[in-house]
Amino acid sequence: MKRILVDMDGVLADVYSQFLKLEADETGVLRNRDETNGKLESEAFPFYEKHVRSKGFFRTVPVMKGSVEGLEYLNGKYEIIILSSATEFPQSLSEKELWLNEYYPFIDWTQMVFCGRKDVVSGDIMIDDHPKNLNFFPGEKIIFTQPHNIRLIVPNCKRASDWDEIVKML
Ligand SMILES: [Mg+2]
Repeated sequence: MKRILVDMDGVLADVYSQFLKLEADETGVLRNRDETNGKLESEAFPFYEKHVRSKGFFRTVPVMKGSVEGLEYLNGKYEIIILSSATEFPQSLSEKELWLNEYYPFIDWTQMVFCGRKDVVSGDIMIDDHPKNLNFFPGEKIIFTQPHNIRLIVPNCKRASDWDEIVKML
């Protein structure tokens, strides 16, 4: 059975919506998602550091549309490993596990890898929103469209703009 490495932030977790909401709570202004196109999260959001390191950020992040059904479908067909760079934000480790348990109960603890660097984990297919993670990966690569990568052409990568497209590809 082929192994798929599935990213969390920007693939399962809709972090842009979370940043936009928290920014609006802070400033009273809810910006349009399109205004963040072409910018990394850290560039698009002035309160990035404060919000990403705050308690509850990862525990309360919205689920990406279609990802629960899509991942459940793939979970029977492939070996699914959730691979998330998490150690940069120590509070995220327990929050991410609780969040996965709540929304993706069919994913068990043996399928979760919370790491620093992703190139230490092997797989056949990688789904990620950041080219920095996909670039080194030797297998099949799918870039998941997020505002920061929307204008990029990433070599040797298929692009999926939502979970329906991922399911159709795989
Ligand atoms: Mg990501």
